[in-house]
Amino acid sequence: MKQANIGVIGVAPMGSNLALNIESRGYTVAVWNRTGSKTKRFVQKNAGKNLIATYSLQDLVKTIKKPRNIVMMIKAGKPTDIVINNLIPLLDKGDTLIDGGNTPFKDTIARNKKLDKSGINFIGMGVSGGTSGARFGPALMPGGQYSAYKNIKPILDKIAAKTPDGRPTEIYCGPNGAGHYVKMVHNGIEYADEELIGETYTILRHLCGLDVDKIAAIFKKWNKGELDSYLIDIFANLLAKKDKKGTPVIDIILDEAENKGTGKWSSEDALNLGVPQSIITEAVYARFVSMLKEERAAAKKVLNGPSKDEMVKPTADVVENCRKALYFGKVISYAQGFEQLRFASKYYNWNYHFDQIAVDWEAGCIIRAKLLQPIEQAFKKNPKLPNLLLDPYFAGVANKYQDAARKISALAMRNGVAIPCFSSAVSYFDEYRTPLSPNAACIQMMRDTFGDHGVFFRNDIHRQGTRLHLSDLENSDK
Ligand code: NDP
Repeated sequence: MKQANIGVIGVAPMGSNLALNIESRGYTVAVWNRTGSKTKRFVQKNAGKNLIATYSLQDLVKTIKKPRNIVMMIKAGKPTDIVINNLIPLLDKGDTLIDGGNTPFKDTIARNKKLDKSGINFIGMGVSGGTSGARFGPALMPGGQYSAYKNIKPILDKIAAKTPDGRPTEIYCGPNGAGHYVKMVHNGIEYADEELIGETYTILRHLCGLDVDKIAAIFKKWNKGELDSYLIDIFANLLAKKDKKGTPVIDIILDEAENKGTGKWSSEDALNLGVPQSIITEAVYARFVSMLKEERAAAKKVLNGPSKDEMVKPTADVVENCRKALYFGKVISYAQGFEQLRFASKYYNWNYHFDQIAVDWEAGCIIRAKLLQPIEQAFKKNPKLPNLLLDPYFAGVANKYQDAARKISALAMRNGVAIPCFSSAVSYFDEYRTPLSPNAACIQMMRDTFGDHGVFFRNDIHRQGTRLHLSDLENSDK
């Protein structure tokens, strides 16, 4: 019987494309899908390729060379547990199961632990790039047993996208859930990127009155500079799309932004770790508010906007300020995303290499952007950099563009245009660069009064002395 180099479970959009990608690099791929007719159709449609259709998990396992590598590309959650439980009795020690689904990292930690007991390796691998990425070069974020990763690395190197200077976008993220965590934060940043682009569009269209074609041209031009990224690229092209009557597609599609949870997971864990990650979280909330379509329509009838409804002239200065504000917001959201990774690395003992994570995101994934190259450099120069904003390049950008971000945020706020991500970028920037935070002192005083929580004396920056109570301070001569 012909033996396969690797197995793929699931021939839905992602699994089928990933199987074809692997096959195209010279490997024989055994495929299995819960609904066997789909496996048959897939293999028939790709007749002549080195694909082996299997119709039971027993057959799948028997068809793959040992030690086996099997990639699961199926609906995350219960389906993954069902398939794992059915596979465990069929696999041998040293085999490796790779979950390429969008799985919550805590599930991956638990599954890695459970399978490890039977000597079966479990890799949780973030996969980004959508179906076309899966077919021609995704960004891959594997985490799990290092020896198992080394075993599958030659295949991952071949199927992954390549950075502009030819490096594969697959890096070993760390043990157990480290890879799925990186993918989760990737998706959080994706939410922020998309919301920031949406806010910029809304300002240009509804505040400045520019028509859709003009805005498409502006985004196209921006994509040639420091904002160069996959999302800006596709957005410029999407704005140019029209229906048969010539109406821009953006004007006819429903204004509800759905989500599948990954951005929310990122925010949830940032809250658990106590790491500020406001822009991603605002982007998640913005999607939630967008889903309240009927409520929004009802609210419009009773809630007023600003008294003066002014249109803003789209001068070259205003448009350039929008560009700067967008880049400023983007820099701050990536800074927060990497700060979350720094906290997580310490808390979960993952030992992330942040410059390598930047490399992983430079090509193939949805947030690929020119910006990731200076991020890679920043962490290469200083692997312990606490926050990107402290790197000289990014401090320079933020200092140079903050004024534009303030102007655009103020303009939007004054005119009743919601900009949750722009405004939180500016607020975070101001909070972060403030050694003295009067509002925090206010909060601490109130906490001590009603909850007996205590306060500290301050010197310039650090806590000084032991925890005291306001009543002690009143009698103190400090
Ligand atoms: P879906 O998420 O729609 O999942 C469909 C696949 O899951 C089918 O193969 C289906 O089998 C299988 N499945 C569902 N329930 C079970 C079960 N109980 N037992 C066994 N198999 C089951 O497909 P996608 O291709 O879109 O995504 C696959 C994975 O990749 C998901 O985890 C997704 O989150 C992730 N992902 C998706 C991306 C995308 O752009 N779509 C990007 C990156 C990751 P059947 O045909 O029998 O129903």
